[in-house]
Amino acid sequence: MDLTSTYIRAVKSFEQIDITVLVNNIILDAVHQKASDIHIEAWESTLPIRLRISGILRELTHLPHEFLDRIAGRLKVMADLVTYETELPQEGRAPASPEYGNVELRVSIFPTVRGEKIVVRLFDPQNRSFDLETLGFESDTIQSFKKLIRRPSGLILLNGPTGSGKTTAIYSALCHLVDAHGPTISISTVEDPVEFNLPMISQSQISNSRGFTYPMALRSLMRQDPEAIMIGEIRDPETATIAVQAGLTGHMVISTIHSDSTAGVYARLINMDIEPFLLASSITGVLGLRLLRTICPRCKTEDRPNPEHLSLLPEGFVEETAFYTGAGCDACSQTGYHGRVAVTELLNSSELVREGVIQKLRTSKLHDIAIEEGMITLWQNAMAKVQRGITSLQEVIRVITVNQL
Ligand SMILES: [Zn+2]
Repeated sequence: MDLTSTYIRAVKSFEQIDITVLVNNIILDAVHQKASDIHIEAWESTLPIRLRISGILRELTHLPHEFLDRIAGRLKVMADLVTYETELPQEGRAPASPEYGNVELRVSIFPTVRGEKIVVRLFDPQNRSFDLETLGFESDTIQSFKKLIRRPSGLILLNGPTGSGKTTAIYSALCHLVDAHGPTISISTVEDPVEFNLPMISQSQISNSRGFTYPMALRSLMRQDPEAIMIGEIRDPETATIAVQAGLTGHMVISTIHSDSTAGVYARLINMDIEPFLLASSITGVLGLRLLRTICPRCKTEDRPNPEHLSLLPEGFVEETAFYTGAGCDACSQTGYHGRVAVTELLNSSELVREGVIQKLRTSKLHDIAIEEGMITLWQNAMAKVQRGITSLQEVIRVITVNQL
């Protein structure tokens, strides 16, 4: 039984609920269940508290609507927000406290017609180690990725939807550089937000409201004599221009960018008015990333996937493969999954890829060239994990869209 439900049952009436205890219990439940976010929003007849665990939202409990304002008020106090403001969005941070499991909170409040919608993101600032070897990358990918990171210059881009493990992969890459070079390398980051504090790396938090934007931070940072620069995200032409220039002028630059596919990163940057020949000469590689839930070892069982899913696979594959899934047990809260593993697609900027970029070839054509040049696709890497019984076929289909086959 979770702490929140236990507490609600223990008090005789809703009036007796201490809001501080209730909110702390919700956060503690989220920490215990390894949730990344807490969602609190009013539905028509109830106020569900939901946790995002391994990428999926699950209900923790339901409360009466009357609690929304009190919970919002408590979280606003914790995150130093304006308590009487209910009509405008607000964002703030609450520092880690032992009262709620030593996690740092990022509180986002958004007005809706049924009251404020609250999302709390949890960050565990302690006891995190970042190691490229433990992310689940295939060993060839780790080797190629390390080569890219250790080049003295060039731009490396990571691509994937929110919650696909980009930050963890980038932090692991930076920690690899620290391990390789020790105190002889200068590494700086600009991030929004800084999610974990890394040893031996200067991390800066962007603040748009104070005018400390990505372009402003990066222009100053270039005068700080860095060798490696991490940019949280490239989302505007100015940041893209500086990132490309930095990569061309003797810096190892690593960043993330949104696009619907790995090869699509080039088109995205061309749409930001970056000259294709600059992209061809600065980008050394693009790493596509997704996270797959791994089958719970306690309830793992052999499975025959449905014919529609099997029809997506090559014939030989189906005969050779024993498919597994999780039946659901108490250890995995009946989900059948426990933990997650990364799958990747590393597009190396080979000569043919660079020529294709300069000729502004379509994304699908660039993708084909990359495969001819040896790129193992997301789908292929995910299928290798299905064959090893690490994840299920339905999980791969949930995460990787069919046009990425
Ligand atoms: Zn299980």
